[in-house]
Amino acid sequence: MSERPETFWDAIADRFSASSKAKRDFLAYGIAISAIILFVGTGGALLPQIIAAWKGISSQPDILLLNAMLLNIALIMLGFSRFRTIKDELETRRRSEEEARKLAEIDALTGCYNRRSINEAIAGLLGSAQARGQCVATMLIDLDNFKQVNDVNGHNTGDQVLKVAAKRLGDSLPADALLARLGGDEFACAIAFNPHQAERIEHLASLMIEKVAEPIKLGKLTTQVTMSVGIVNSADVPLEDWAPYDADHAQQLVHKADIAMYHSKKQGKNRFFWFESQMEHELRFRNDLESGIRKGVLAGEFTPFYEQQVDVETGQLLGFEMLARWESPEMGLVGPEVFIPVAEEIGVIADLSERLIAQAFEDAKEWHPDLTLSVNISPVQLRDPWFSQKLVKMLVKHNFPPSRLDIEITESCLHDNIGMVRTMITSLQNQGVGVSLDDFGTGYSSLAQLRSLPFDRIKIDRSFIQDLEHEGAAEKLVDAIVSMGEGLDMPITAEGIENPEILSVLKKMGHLKGQGYHYGKPEPADAVIERLAKTQLLAETSDDAPPEERLSDSEPKPRKQALKKTR
Ligand code: C2E
Ligand code: CA
Ligand code: CA
Repeated sequence: MSERPETFWDAIADRFSASSKAKRDFLAYGIAISAIILFVGTGGALLPQIIAAWKGISSQPDILLLNAMLLNIALIMLGFSRFRTIKDELETRRRSEEEARKLAEIDALTGCYNRRSINEAIAGLLGSAQARGQCVATMLIDLDNFKQVNDVNGHNTGDQVLKVAAKRLGDSLPADALLARLGGDEFACAIAFNPHQAERIEHLASLMIEKVAEPIKLGKLTTQVTMSVGIVNSADVPLEDWAPYDADHAQQLVHKADIAMYHSKKQGKNRFFWFESQMEHELRFRNDLESGIRKGVLAGEFTPFYEQQVDVETGQLLGFEMLARWESPEMGLVGPEVFIPVAEEIGVIADLSERLIAQAFEDAKEWHPDLTLSVNISPVQLRDPWFSQKLVKMLVKHNFPPSRLDIEITESCLHDNIGMVRTMITSLQNQGVGVSLDDFGTGYSSLAQLRSLPFDRIKIDRSFIQDLEHEGAAEKLVDAIVSMGEGLDMPITAEGIENPEILSVLKKMGHLKGQGYHYGKPEPADAVIERLAKTQLLAETSDDAPPEERLSDSEPKPRKQALKKTR
């Protein structure tokens, strides 16, 4: 409302518009009252003259006074009409201010509280709950697969889904509970409850999870979302120094509920967890891990270790599998099971892996040229359509023969996009690189899938191999996998061979490759060089004499030059 004032009254009203409603009312009253006083003053003098003139006692009343009185009457009428206009105007303004305040406090899409207003509201609920001897449970809710719904069906559908979810949440909550949409697909709610009945909150959370997960019908489309919930009990986050419940304290509760929600996500989504202080430490650890990994990649703290791969029947050394290690300045030597999933999530896996592979190429060039190098590739890297080109570029740059390289892909990759995996495998094989299916038996791949994918080799997951130690079904199972490999013309590697007992069971099963602690733990590049030097399997010495003549019985023997290629 920034138009220019048009009349004197507007100018007055505008002048006062910045001041309070009372001031403006006062102005309008003032004008009307002064007009009335003037009217009484002039009227008091004029009225006897008019009556006398009317009775014919005196002549015409004073024309000036008469005009003044008429002007006065007009002024009173004008004043009152303006007073009414101002009143109406003020009422309109009050209403639009109220509207704007509501808009600022309410999420436009769902009609819930929003991020700005919820903390204040929770603080209010905390105060009233405390007065009744109750606690407040603050929940943070995040829809699990909402991004997918949005991406696949568009933002309009996404908005409808949010509305339905908000409605279902609202309907499940008790009447005095608060519900807010914090943004995106994130909601928060706060419920007062009796401290001895925390299980009621758990029932409520389960009910909300159940309700939201029901199919959502939008016209012809039916979709579904699940949600992860974190809950914090206000009794677990006491006030400091008896400060009053305020928005900052409520914000703390929401933050802790958020940490518990993150925990629910980590534990597999579609569930709830109460906040525990332990979670805060885990989150801090996770944040440190993330920044440590980012820094470590740039600082070259990740190094390749190598695990021997051996011919199970003859004990000949055939090559090495590269296994990543992180030499963290803060944490010491960290295993890949800790940092690979994080590196995948924060998007540094490709960079990390490429640096390691480049180093491994350089390391492996010092080995006997018959020894192969296997590297593990993350599903995230496989989604990159340029992956095989990148790899070829690296092979050329480091002058490493593709025939010595083997890429290990975990079985879980096959669920991502089988068409893309097939293209990738073919493209790698066309370059002369071998491709193995890693961790076989853990990812539920079907025989049909296996048959349609041209893997060069299958690696049986170590959990099956370790079970061979105990007599039972494991032996039959591994035997069946070996036969299946033969049928598909895919040779087998058994990983996780820990002792001679397991080895002897495997030896009966056919011509396998094997690896595991029985042959040695993964070791750094210089330890590999030492090992190879002892058995004269270094690149420089490789053509002096056939390598198998230089081996002791206890050491794994190198592959014979004439040995049929195992892939
Ligand atoms: P994996 O490919 O199954 O690698 C074999 C793992 O089993 C290695 O663990 C190895 O140390 C361990 N191992 C070998 N022999 C035995 C044994 O006899 N008994 C037992 N209990 N374990 C044995 P590590 O090095 O911790 O690697 C874990 C996983 O991390 C690997 O499993 C692989 O999937 C992944 N990984 C390692 N390096 C990389 C990498 O550079 N990139 C990617 N994407 N993943 C990697
Ligand atoms: Ca592997
Ligand atoms: Ca494996």
